[in-house]
This record gives sequence, C-alpha cells and structure tokens, in this order.
Amino acid sequence: MYVNFQALGCRLNEAELESWASQFMLRGHEITTDAAEADLVVFNSCAVTAQAERKSRQQINRLQRRNPAARLVVTGCHASLHADAVGGTRGVDLVIDNRDKEALVERALGLFDSGKAALPPVEIGDAPNALLQRGRHRAFIKIQDGCRYRCTYCIVTLARGEERSRSEDDVIAEINRLHRQGIDEVALTGVHVGGYGSDTGSSLYRLLDRILERTAVARIRLASVEPWDLPDGFFRLFHDPRLMPHMHLPIQSGCDSVLRRMARRCKTAEFAGLVERARNEIALFNVTTDLIVGFPGETEQEWRQTVDFVRRTGFGDMHVFPFSARSGTKAARLPDPVDAATKKARSQEMLALARELKRAELERHLGTSAPVLWERRLGDAIGDWIGYTPHYHKIRCAGDSIEAARIDTVSIDAVDDDGATLWHRPPAAVAAVTPRIDFSRSA
Ligand code: SF4
Repeated sequence: MYVNFQALGCRLNEAELESWASQFMLRGHEITTDAAEADLVVFNSCAVTAQAERKSRQQINRLQRRNPAARLVVTGCHASLHADAVGGTRGVDLVIDNRDKEALVERALGLFDSGKAALPPVEIGDAPNALLQRGRHRAFIKIQDGCRYRCTYCIVTLARGEERSRSEDDVIAEINRLHRQGIDEVALTGVHVGGYGSDTGSSLYRLLDRILERTAVARIRLASVEPWDLPDGFFRLFHDPRLMPHMHLPIQSGCDSVLRRMARRCKTAEFAGLVERARNEIALFNVTTDLIVGFPGETEQEWRQTVDFVRRTGFGDMHVFPFSARSGTKAARLPDPVDAATKKARSQEMLALARELKRAELERHLGTSAPVLWERRLGDAIGDWIGYTPHYHKIRCAGDSIEAARIDTVSIDAVDDDGATLWHRPPAAVAAVTPRIDFSRSA
C-alpha cells in the first residue's frame, strides 16, 4: 500500500518519520509524497507554540479533506496533549501518544485487514532509501526522547515524558545502514540530546566516540543541544573532521534573573564559559542559539542585559521566538506579561542584531576553503546549487559541474547581499561588493 508522511515542528519529528518510512518499506509498502494517493497518512504533530497547535489542527482537517478514504494516524506533541479532542476529530482513525511511537507501525497496520497489511518483509539493505526518494541528503537520527528538566515555558517536556535513550548499537546500526544507502551526513537529534545515556549508563560523549569509531559516514552533526550536561573535554571530539564544528545551544535569555524565572539550568557565565571552551578547542567553531523575547516580567533593564550578552557572545545565527504562553506550563501563570508592542519591538531589535552577527560570522570564513555537501538546485533544474559547509553555513554556486549529495572542497569567495549565504564563484555583482579580507582577524 502507499503511505504518506507529514510532520510539523522539530527535527525529532522528522527523524521519527524517516524511521517509520524505513520500517514500512521493510514490509514492502511504498512511500508517496502525495497524501491524495495514500492508503495511510501518518501526521507527526507539534505543540511547541500556540501557533504550532493551530497549524496541527488545520493540517489534520486538510489531510482529511484531501483524502477522506485514507486511514489517518495522528501522533506527536499536539496529539499527546489533546488525545481525546484529536481522536474525536472527523477522519482521524488512530491517535498514538509520544510514549507509544515505537509501536506506531504495528498499530497503523492494525487498521487494515490482514491481507493488505501483512506483506512479506524485504531485506532493508536493498530497500531504496525513503530520504533519497524525498530528495533529502541529510538524515536525522533520533538518539533519545523525553527530558527530566522542567523549564517553566516548555510544553515539550510535558508532551514527551521522561528521558529514554536508544542503545548505542541501535543508533550505530541505523547510521551504517543509511550510509550503505548513500547518505553521507547524519544529524543526531532528541529532546534533551545532552541527556543521552542518563537512563542507560552511557553519555553523549561516549556515543559520539563510538559513532566516530564504528561508522564511516562522512559528516556527523548535532541538532539542538541544551547547554549543560556536557563533560569537560567534550569539544576535543571535534578534532575529528567528521564531527561538524557547529552546535546549536539554546540560551533563551542573556539575563540571569530571566533565566531563573525560566528555571534554566545554565546561567550566562556558564554559557559564556562553554562557548569559550568550544572556540578555544576549535577555531571558528560556530555557535548558534534560540532566544525567547518578552518572557513574563522582562524589564527594559533585563532586556538590555540580554542584548549586550548576545552581542558579546557573537552567535553565528539565532532563532528568535516571541514568548508564547503554553497552558499547562508554570510560565503561563507568571505575573507581569510583556505587552505585544514591546514584544514586537524587542523581536525586531534582536532579529536585526542576529542578521548583523550572522554576516560577521560568514565574513570570518572568506578566503578559506571548505568541503560542501551539495543538496539541491534553486528554483528549477538549471538554478544555482545550494549546499552546506561543515560550520552549517549555506553556500551557493552557479554552474553544471556539481551533483546532489556530492561533497566538494571549494573556496569561499563572497557573502551574498542577503548576509545569510556564502558564495563559491560568485557572480560579478556579488564579487564586486565583497569586502577585501584582512586575514589577521579571521583566524
Ligand atoms: S531542557 Fe529543553 S526539553 Fe527539557 S524542559 Fe527545558 S526546554 Fe524543555
């Protein structure tokens, strides 16, 4: 039968889709990118913000209208937090809680009569890779789920439950299987990635060490990692060129009194120390982050502290989120909400700073070379190529001598006008405005 997968939200949701897709293919079913032709549709929903919940509800209704004949399975954080409401929605055949995701494939097949569901399994080795079928060249690998912490604004910890880690062997086997199928870059993801192994006696450090030892995949990335529970010496691992020199470390605020109200485990001094360790170990190590703007009670003075901290840290990129109260969280009951106009003004100020810091980050790489994994062409088939450097910088290149999923070492020649993209062999217009580099500062 034909199975269609949909997801909203985080890379963990994406990683789960990829794992289910492989399991369905293992059973001889086909993956389709078109929900209208599917017998079964699996939707991995999100609840990280009120807007994400609204989009999840809209997506469920859209999928039901698009293909009323298909079986519709809904899982993910929105479905886990509102199981009855989702289960009562027209067209939804099955709701799977986050904690039962391991059994999703079996339970979804249970919706069909045995004839249709029970096709003989095929050898996973020769099954085409669902990712490549979807034009993707980077695989998200789920290494753990859940989180033991209770940041006051976070709904994910409530929706995903306690920490549970996959075994090292399981993760390594999946990476090697994907590598055999042509995937040359993997990104390790979870809810609290730094908590990997807390329930199995392992650790993120040990897992990375084992992955570097027992796999041959060219590039290993870490998706978002909370800036704590990382052992001393952690950044020494990045001397291995297969481990990409970039980490997304959510700081959420640059002010300790706000971080206390968020119940964040990492204060600004510890965060600054962590970033310094990374940059001392690996020159040009790229640190990106998430920041919440307008957390309840955030005074102008606290906001100034955050802006100063962000500028001093010099993040390579930032995701800026206006605070969104999530019912069921402690933060939703905190006093002194910040008014919408102030939240908007602070978001715009932070986004402007983020753009400035990103351009500065990209300019630090001008005149250097980097191995780029080319991923896709812009627009139609003759557009420029887009790929990513090890530092997770987007890079563009014109010309036909490039192939998708190939890794080429190229010179970094310019920063695009958008201040967010690097160029290899830039067009004249871009080259003309590229600043001449004084190498003494870039190293
Ligand atoms: S550590 Fe992350 S996942 Fe855990 S409660 Fe805090 S924000 Fe949520």
